[in-house]
Amino acid sequence: MVDLNKLVRENVIKLTPYSSARDEFKGKTGIFMDANENPFGNLNRYPDPYQKELKTAISKIKGIEEEKIFLGNGSDEIIDLCFRIFCNPGVDKALTSTPTYGMYAVSASVNDVEVLNVPLNSSFQIDLKKVEPLLSDKNLKLVFICSPNNPTANTMYNDDVERIIAIFKGIVLIDEAYIDFSDKPSFIKLVDRYPNLILMQTFSKAFGLAAARIGMAFSNPQIIKYFNKLKPPYNISTINQKAALKKLTQIDQFKSQVERIKKERVRLSAILSKMKIIEKVYPSDANFLLVKVKNADYIYNTLVNKNIIIRNRSKVIDNCLRITIGKRSENNTLIKALNELEKKT
Ligand code: PMP
Repeated sequence: MVDLNKLVRENVIKLTPYSSARDEFKGKTGIFMDANENPFGNLNRYPDPYQKELKTAISKIKGIEEEKIFLGNGSDEIIDLCFRIFCNPGVDKALTSTPTYGMYAVSASVNDVEVLNVPLNSSFQIDLKKVEPLLSDKNLKLVFICSPNNPTANTMYNDDVERIIAIFKGIVLIDEAYIDFSDKPSFIKLVDRYPNLILMQTFSKAFGLAAARIGMAFSNPQIIKYFNKLKPPYNISTINQKAALKKLTQIDQFKSQVERIKKERVRLSAILSKMKIIEKVYPSDANFLLVKVKNADYIYNTLVNKNIIIRNRSKVIDNCLRITIGKRSENNTLIKALNELEKKT
């Protein structure tokens, strides 16, 4: 059994968190003279620091208790908080299976945490044989699993993920930013079984609210308490809480957009696969395609010159480009540009 208190940094355990005016008085009505706000205006009051209404709505949709939910200013804030809660700078380590989302390593650097990078195998799956021996390193505190993974677009095998959570004595963070585009189930059910699991999702992708910066973490209440202890008091603005709440009342729209994106993914993938300049289109469980080409830099620059911006990932996977699925018309413009490029080569 994982002893969470042994995993949390000493200074975090001892920390007296900031107590905001809204921590002291939780009522909704009254004459508020406690937070040095301006009495005039619409956005003059500080937001609910614990986003109660939004968490109630998320709890219903995800089927998970409110006390197991934390909301961050994007998943990026949650990633950073994990380092600050669990990793002693200059001492502790994190493990990633690369290539993966770049913020894990950046956040690790910011927090002076060494990263053990284990390359994914040739099927872009976790290389369990290489990962397992590293899990016994007593300074390894965090293991990141991105599923579906950015930029490889695939979901990680269930058995591998569960084995890591079961044998690792530290914290496993599963990042499911793209899960709504996948036909495979979420790992969210494992949150009830494993106290060392933190599962992240976000409003930035399928919910279409990247501008609102709201990331979700699901974990046991003890870990959620540490997130709340460390976060800035009002980390999610009232405007953004309202935007997310509204989205959650528009689930039909959410589902139809996801379906449209998934259909476009199939169509675009089939068309790109037939092009001579494209060597391979990898299967995708996300809202993007990873494609292998002969000359990534040339294709990338040609598209940029035509005002079509994709992501050149050739520095992390040889000659690979990452293409986000757009609207049908946008995808058609991309296809046309690639067809023109193909004729020239
Ligand atoms: N996780 C993954 C795998 C991502 O690709 C991204 C953004 N591209 C994020 C998290 C960041 O999410 P957020 O917008 O919630 O910070």
